[in-house]
This record gives sequence, C-alpha cells and structure tokens, in this order.
Amino acid sequence: MTTTETHRFTCPLCGNMFDSQLITSTNSFGPLHSDFYREAAGAQPICLFVHTCTNCGYTGFEGDFEPQTFSPDFTRLVTETITPEVKKRKIEVNGNYYLAALCAQWRGASAQQLGRIYHMGAWCCRMRGDKEKEKFYLARAVEDFEKALAAGQPSPDTRAMYAYIIGDIYRRLGDSGRAKEWYGRAGEMLNAFGGESQIREYAERQMKEPKDVF
Ligand SMILES: [Zn+2]
Repeated sequence: MTTTETHRFTCPLCGNMFDSQLITSTNSFGPLHSDFYREAAGAQPICLFVHTCTNCGYTGFEGDFEPQTFSPDFTRLVTETITPEVKKRKIEVNGNYYLAALCAQWRGASAQQLGRIYHMGAWCCRMRGDKEKEKFYLARAVEDFEKALAAGQPSPDTRAMYAYIIGDIYRRLGDSGRAKEWYGRAGEMLNAFGGESQIREYAERQMKEPKDVF
C-alpha cells in the first residue's frame, strides 16, 4: 500500500508556506501498462510527485523546492503567466504536471525531461479517469520524446525503449500508422544501440494484439 505524510513546503520563489503530501512508502505490485506505467497496489502515488505553491503557482518535484535563486526571466514568467491563473481559483496542490512542465521548460529542461514530465501527467490523468486530459498530455509527451530522440538526448541503450514508448503513445492516440512505424523503429534501434531485449517482444506483441495493460 501507499502511505503519505503531510509536509510543509516553503516556496523557494515567493516564500509562501503550504502543506502537501509526500509519499513515505509505495510498491510496484500493480499491473504494468503498455507504456510502462507500473501501478501500485492500492492507492496510486503518481499524482503526488508534483507540488504547486498555493500563492504563486510555482510547481515542481520535491527537489525543486530546495532553497535556490531564480533568474529574473524565470520569476517574471511565473508571476505573469502562472500566478494570475492560480489567484483566480483555488488550485489543487498535487498533480499539476502541466505547470511542472512549464516551470521545468523555463528553467532549461531538455526535451527528454519535459517528455517524461508530460508522460507522468498523462498517467496521473489516466488514474483519475480523465481521458481527454490524458490525451492532451500524451500528445505533448510524444512530441517531446520525438524531439529528444532526434537530438540524441537519451543514452544509446534507452533509445529503443523511447521508440517503443513513442509507438505506444501514438497507438493510444489512435494513430495506428505512426504506432507501427515506431514499434518497427524500436527493433531497429535495439539492433543498432542495444538495450532491453524485451522491448522487441513488446513491440511485436503490440503490433499484432495491442493491449493497454499487460
Ligand atoms: Zn510561491
């Protein structure tokens, strides 16, 4: 089971103190989704990995709340773009992966890092049962994963895995043509760069008999 505790965060951008949940233990005993989301048995921790300051909207993972200094540009982008949105309504403290991606992007995150944040956002929406939002996040994730591969960002032994994930995201978005293309590319990348040999099995299986959960 997943357990959490309330943690008081101090926003490194505006100094506001707010409470959010931190995961104290979780497990990987739940089913494995075809795009490598591993469910926990019991409550799902996926939405709890990102936290949003209730005053200014600064959003990130636990480590992003360490004391630090920000560039004037970053501060301006948050206060002009995110803060007004947060002030208009009572924002949820957890699961705002879109805001986390914006903050990461403004701090210079790579396409690979952004793709991972959007992909986690898709998993969070999936576990909350919000299919439309999940698709929005998947579309962002696949765009960034493609950019990351084109720029050679993932280490060689993970490129086949990314190609497979891109294929599986296209399949989930209903684009079977691109899905097949990328499942095929996963096999080619495995030959060229090595990596987890199971990726080939997954790709072949998903081409023949696609499943959302293995
Ligand atoms: Zn703040």
